[in-house]
Amino acid sequence: MSFLPYQFSEHFAQQLDAQDPLASFRSRFHFPKVNGKAAIYFCGNSLGIQPKSVKDHLERELNNWADLAVDGHFHGEDAWYHVRKKSKPALAEIVGAHEHEVVAMNHLSVNLHLLMVSFYRPTKERYKIIVEAGAFPSDQYMLESQIKFHGLDPADALVELTPRPGEHTLRTEDILTEIKKQGDKLAMVNMAGLQYYTGQLFDMQAITAAAHEVGAVAGFDLAHAAGNAVLKLHDWDVDFATWCSYKYLNSGPGNISGIFVHERYAERPDLPRFAGWWGHDEDERFKMEKGFVPMFGADGWQLANNNVLALAAHQASLDIFQEAGMENLRAKSEKLTGYLEFLIREISGESGVLEIITPKNPAERGCQLSLLIHRGGKAVFDEFYKHGVVGDWRNPNVIRLAPTPLYNSFMDVFRFAQILEQSLEKFA
Ligand SMILES: *Cc1c(COP(=O)(O)O)cnc(C)c1O
Repeated sequence: MSFLPYQFSEHFAQQLDAQDPLASFRSRFHFPKVNGKAAIYFCGNSLGIQPKSVKDHLERELNNWADLAVDGHFHGEDAWYHVRKKSKPALAEIVGAHEHEVVAMNHLSVNLHLLMVSFYRPTKERYKIIVEAGAFPSDQYMLESQIKFHGLDPADALVELTPRPGEHTLRTEDILTEIKKQGDKLAMVNMAGLQYYTGQLFDMQAITAAAHEVGAVAGFDLAHAAGNAVLKLHDWDVDFATWCSYKYLNSGPGNISGIFVHERYAERPDLPRFAGWWGHDEDERFKMEKGFVPMFGADGWQLANNNVLALAAHQASLDIFQEAGMENLRAKSEKLTGYLEFLIREISGESGVLEIITPKNPAERGCQLSLLIHRGGKAVFDEFYKHGVVGDWRNPNVIRLAPTPLYNSFMDVFRFAQILEQSLEKFA
C-alpha cells in the first residue's frame, strides 16, 4: 500500500481520496446537515444515510400500486408475488450465502424469536446458551424470554462471557474454552457477529466449529456486521443468522430485516417453526388449503406477505452494495478506520482523555471505533456535534464513530481529527 504509513495532513487525506476507487459512491447519498452544513456522518452503525435512488424505487412501486392495485401482485416483471426474489442475489453476496439460504422479512428482533423457535430446543441435559455479556438489549430480552418460555431459569441457562479483568473485549480462545467447558449442556451459541458497544468482530467460523464440536448450534445477530464485515456464513457452517437493513445497509429507519438459514435445514419440514401462509409452498398457496408445506430454504420461515414499499427502499441500497462489492468496501474500510485510529492516537497521545476499546487488529473489527471518554464525558461528544460530527453516545462514557467505506471519505476522517484536536484542548 503505497500511501502507508499514514500522515496527519490535509494533503495526505486528499491523496487517499484521489486514490480511492469507491470515492464516487459518496455522491449517491443525501448527507444530513448540522448547523446548515453537511455533517461528518459517522453514525452508519445506528442509521445509514439515504441513497438518492430510494425515491425512484419507492415512486415506481407507488405508481404500480396506483395504476395496478391488486393486479400488481401478478402483473409484469415487478409482480409483487415474487418480490422477495429480487433482494436475494445481493443479500447472498453480503452475508456469504446461497440465495436459497437468505430472505428479507420482518424485523430483527422478531426474526430472532422465530429462529429460536426452530433452533433452541432445550432438553433437561442440554439447555444452555452462550452470549457475550452486555449484548444489545433486544437480544438480552429475547434470550431471557425464550429461556423462560421453556420453563427454565435465565440465571442458570444463560452463560454470559465477560472479558478478562482489565480488558474490554473477549479473546477468541476464552470463548472457545467456555464452549468446550459447557459441552453436553450447551444447546446454542447466540452472539453478535460484531459487538455493537465495543466494535469487536468475533471469529464466527471458529465459534461455530467449536459449538458443533460439542453438539450445539451457532446463531449470530449480524445487525452490526451485515454490510460492514466480509461474511461467509455458508462456508463457516453457521446454522442461522439475522440482521437489520437500516444500519450499514442504508435501507431506511426501521426497515426490513433478513435471515440466513444454512442449507442443511432447507428441507426439514420436521423442524418446529411458527408458520404462516408466506412460508407455504408458493405454487400451492392460493389453493388456500389445510396442511402447511414449508418452502425450500429460508423462504420456509416467512410468515406474511411482503412489504413491497419497504423492499423497494431496501433494493435501492442493495443495488449500490452489489455495484461496490463487499471485498472492495472492506479493503477501503480497513484503510479508512486505520486512518481514523492513527489520527486519534496522534492527537490524544498521552493525554488520557480518550481510550480506544475496539480491537487494534483489523481482522477483529469492522469500521467502528469505540472510544472511552475518561474526562469531560458527554461534553466531549457534544463538542464534536457542535462542529458537525454525527457520532453516537452510549452511557456511561462511550463514543462510537463509524467511518463507512461506502460514503465516508478520508477527508471526513481528517476533518474530524481537526475537530477532535480543538475539542481536546478544552478537556485535556
Ligand atoms: C440494532 C440492533 C437491534 C435492533 O433490533 P430491531 O428489531 O431492528 O429493532 C437488535 N440487536 C442488535 C445487536 C442491534 O444492533
